[in-house]
Order: sequence, then C-alpha cells, then structure tokens
Amino acid sequence: MLHSSYIEISKSALQNNIDFIRQEIGTSVKLSSVVKGNAYGHGIEQFGKLAQECGIDHFSVFSADEADRLLQTLEKPATIMIMGYVDNPELEWAIQHEIEFFIFELDRLLEASAIAKKLGKRAKVHLELETGMNRTGFDKTALEHAEAVLEGCREYVELQGVCTHYAGAESLQNHERVLRQLHAYEQQLQQLKEAGHTPIQRHTACSAAMVSYPQTRMDMVRVGIMQYGFWPSPETYTHYISQHNEKKDPLRRLINWKSHIMSLKSVPRGEYIGYGTTFQAPRDMVLAVVPVGYAWGYSRSLSNQGQVLIKGTRAGVVGTVNMNVMMVDVTNILDVQKNDEVVLLGMQGDESITVASFGELSTQLNYELLTRLPLNIPRYIID
Ligand SMILES: *Cc1c(COP(=O)(O)O)cnc(C)c1O
Repeated sequence: MLHSSYIEISKSALQNNIDFIRQEIGTSVKLSSVVKGNAYGHGIEQFGKLAQECGIDHFSVFSADEADRLLQTLEKPATIMIMGYVDNPELEWAIQHEIEFFIFELDRLLEASAIAKKLGKRAKVHLELETGMNRTGFDKTALEHAEAVLEGCREYVELQGVCTHYAGAESLQNHERVLRQLHAYEQQLQQLKEAGHTPIQRHTACSAAMVSYPQTRMDMVRVGIMQYGFWPSPETYTHYISQHNEKKDPLRRLINWKSHIMSLKSVPRGEYIGYGTTFQAPRDMVLAVVPVGYAWGYSRSLSNQGQVLIKGTRAGVVGTVNMNVMMVDVTNILDVQKNDEVVLLGMQGDESITVASFGELSTQLNYELLTRLPLNIPRYIID
C-alpha cells in the first residue's frame, strides 16, 4: 500500500561518510557505528544491513531491545555493544548472545558475573568511568570496589573495554571540562591497570571528540551523527575546515523524506487558509495539500514557516500544520500536478531542504529532529 510519505536512505552517501571517517582515524582505530534512536531515525534494520554492506562490523546501541532488533536483521557476524539500558533478565539474554555491554554500577557487575557463571559463558564488559559528565559511570571510590569484584570473577567476566563519554565535545565552551574528563579518564585507567586490569579497548570519543580532540580516539571511536552525514555542531565543522585545506563538506546526507501532492486547490484573495486565522491569502493562490502533518513528525512549529520542494522549487507552508496534512503555496510554480513529488527533507533538482534549516525553524537539534521521524514511515534504500 502506498504510504503518505517515505524516507530514502542513500547507500553511496553512507559509503562516502564511512570512508571519510576511516580515513580520519586511520587503520589502528576501530569504528563503532552508533545506531541508537532507531539509527538516528534512519531505521535500525535498514541502516544496520546497509552499514554492514559498507564494511561496518561493530555497532553501538542504547538498550537491549535495540540490540535485539539489530541482531535479528544483520546478515553477517558483528559485535553489538549496549551503552545504556539492560535489565537483569536481559543481561542473561545479552551474555547468551555474546552481546557486549557497558557496566556502570557494582550491582550490574555482580549480576553479570553470576549469570555468566551460571551459563558457563564469559561476559564481555565495558567498564564506564565517571569522569565529569555526572550521568553514569564508576567514580574513583566505586572503581576500587569494582577492581576487587573483577579480580574475583576473571574467569567469567572479560574486561573488553574501559570507556567514558564527554559532556559536550561539540562546543568550545566545554573545552576545559572535556580536557578535565580526559585527564580523569587517564588517571582512573592507570589505577585499573595498576590493579592488574588492562582493557582490550579504550574508547571515549563520539563524533565531536573524534574531530576536535584526536587524542580521545584511543582504540575505538563511537560515531553516530557523522555517519548519517551531519556535523555534531557548526563549531565542529568550522574546526575541521580550519584544520584542513578543504572548503567542501566531506560528508553527505543519507536521508530524503518525500511525499506527494494529495490535492490542489485555488483560493481567492482574502480567504483564511486552514484552521483559524493564522494565514489570510494576500492574492489569489494555488495550494497543494500534502498528506504529512505532525503525526508524522512534521513539527507544528513549522506552521507558516516550513518549506518543501516541488518541481525543484521551494514552496512555503501556509497556515498551521495539521495532524495529517499541511498546505503549501504553489501559486508561482508552473505545471504543478496532483501526485507530483514533494520533498520535505533532502534534495530535489539543485535545491535542498537541510535538517539545519528545518531544525532552526522548529527549534530542534539535528539529533532530535532525526530521531523523531516516526518508526512507521517506510524506509527504502537507494544508491
Ligand atoms: C550517542 C553516543 C555516541 C555517539 O554520539 P555522536 O555525537 O552521534 O557521534 C557515543 N557514545 C555514547 C555513550 C553515546 O551515547
């Protein structure tokens, strides 16, 4: 059945971005593809498969249910690492399926060890260190307890990684804090090593840290937003450009969000359009009705603000965005027909609607806007 809108994911764009990231980090640093938040709205199933075709063999997810979705669709072996939520019953499932996970509390360490022993399997864990973000992780004191526990369960728990996460590496404003975190990480890692626990992988960097603080790359980087073709912030992009003799953005967006014109209507000058009185036609107008509204993730704050592309030309949203439809002004676009393609996000001809422009108008971050694209919009892979 034809859906009222759909999302295209470009394989060549993903390959371009992965090649770029690999070129940046070199061959000795592992690339983990972060696919939490439904692969930042791209669709974890579709994206996971595509990423494997582009050479990815390590994935980071937030929770066990995401790990499960990924596991069920991947066609080749890959490492899956859970960075956040795992309940105790899921811990057993994870260990059974050789899924790696972060440990940030003694409780979970003890539980993992007990389950691994019961299953006769070795759990591969990543010890998360509290270095100043103050979200999850072992602080110095808790770490001492963890060392003792690790010592007692070496047979069942393998220290696959020691990691941390920076509190805002995408903004220069946090520069000192990021450096303090890095320092704290190094100190606690040293403490662990002295206690006889050396991890296989040290990893701390997200996209922004990878770009702006190369010393954070260590053995592995966990890259989300950049594989999808977006910079973590304009500052990170500026930093990259200033460090390289390049003027062109090396990343390409994967996503196009499209729909079609559902109906056309002529409206005489002076009429109000849609609910209420937020828009009064200043002249005779032709409107296209597009079957996408806030129920599909097209924010209501784009009422009278948003733009779409029709026949390679920008058309503005008029009136309020409704639950399932919105109206756009096509008065000045020649030969518009019912069923013509409407691009909500992405390219058409020489024009593009960027997530940045969309995001500014709806006051959402790249990250937020992408992950809010509803699960049930179909995703298709294109070249
Ligand atoms: C989301 C996340 C990342 C990836 O962040 P990007 O900015 O998208 O690269 C890395 N590490 C952790 C712990 C995360 O939660």
